[in-house]
Formats: sequence, C-alpha cells, structure tokens
Amino acid sequence: MANIILLGPPGAGKGTQAKRLEETRGMVQLSTGDMLRAARTSGTEMGRKVAAVLDGGGLVTDEIVIGLIEEKLALTGHGGFIFDGFPRTLKQADALGALLARKGLALDAVIELVVDDAALVGRIINRANEARAAGQPVRKDDTPEVFEVRLREYYKNTAALIGYYWAKGNLVQIDGMAEMQSVAEAIAKVLDKA
Ligand code: AMP
Repeated sequence: MANIILLGPPGAGKGTQAKRLEETRGMVQLSTGDMLRAARTSGTEMGRKVAAVLDGGGLVTDEIVIGLIEEKLALTGHGGFIFDGFPRTLKQADALGALLARKGLALDAVIELVVDDAALVGRIINRANEARAAGQPVRKDDTPEVFEVRLREYYKNTAALIGYYWAKGNLVQIDGMAEMQSVAEAIAKVLDKA
C-alpha cells in the first residue's frame, strides 16, 4: 500500500492517471475537485458556497477542502490513497501531513507531472470537446478564460509545494507530456519502489 500525491497544473493528466491507478492497483482517488463538483449538485449549503468559486477558477477555502479530505481518510481496505488536486496550498500540505500522521499513514511519494503550459489549454479544450461528444456534462471551468485563472492560481499557490516536498525528500518529477501509457509506466516504477 502506498499513498501518493499527484501534483501538477490543471490539464496535466492527474485525474486520468489516478483513474488508471484505481483500476490497476486498487488505490483510491481522492480528488477534491470531484468532491466539490458533487457537493455543488447536492443542494447543500457548502455546495452553494463553492459553486461560484468553482466556475470562476479560484480556490475554495482551505478549511472546506481539508474537511472533505479528513472524512475520506477513514476509508480502509484499499491499495492506498491518490491525492489528486489536493493539497493546493502550503496550509493544506501541512494539514495533510498532520492528518496522515494522526492516522499512522505515510506519504510515500509526491509525483509531479511536469508539463508544457502552452500545451495545457489545448488539452482542456479537448477534454471539453470529448465530454460534449460523449453526451457528458462539460465542466464550466474548462474554457480558455477560466483556465487562465486556474493556471495563475496554480503558480501563485500550488507551485510552492514543489519546493516544499522536494525539501522533505518526497518529490519525484515525471514527464507529463509523454504518451499516457509512458506516464503510467513511470508512475508504476515510482510505486514499485515505494
Ligand atoms: P480540479 O478538478 O482539481 O481541477 O478542481 C476544480 C476546482 O475545484 C478548482 O479550480 C478549485 O476551484 C476547486 N478545488 C479543487 N481542489 C481544491 C483544493 N485543494 N483547494 C482549493 N480549491 C480546490
């Protein structure tokens, strides 16, 4: 069992790789983005609060996402957690460290998917087009305008985590521009060593 963080800007392929790890290794994807999108359609007070933030591409509060993750850490009987889109701030990273320590869980690797920013907006547009073609709901934040905001948030708040985890000796960098299969193989190698 290994617990990992997938780190990288929107469109880097974190969700795609997390889903593969669920299928191949019985790991559990903990995507705060998915949890927040589920909350917005649930009719709850929290859902109403976060809806506008999600659509605008900003970050919801640390307290909300830390609470969501804390609930899920009670899950047992699986191959490990994949943190996808969390943590996104230094405060979230500290909180995750404390939560894992309290549960006696280790953080085995932080895998950064290193990508070329210029290619990302194309990936986001593709994701929206594919969802549309499949008759699935299209994320409101998968537009070039909102993507720009999300990328800026990444550099302002989240990119600092690269140094944070490097200093802890946890960081592994992988070429996220490679074919999906090669990225999956590179992640598998990290996990096999963990
Ligand atoms: P994602 O699906 O990871 O791209 O997340 C979609 C949106 O959910 C982001 O643009 C944020 O508005 C919000 N979000 C997801 N995860 C977090 C987080 N860890 N902290 C703050 N906001 C988040």
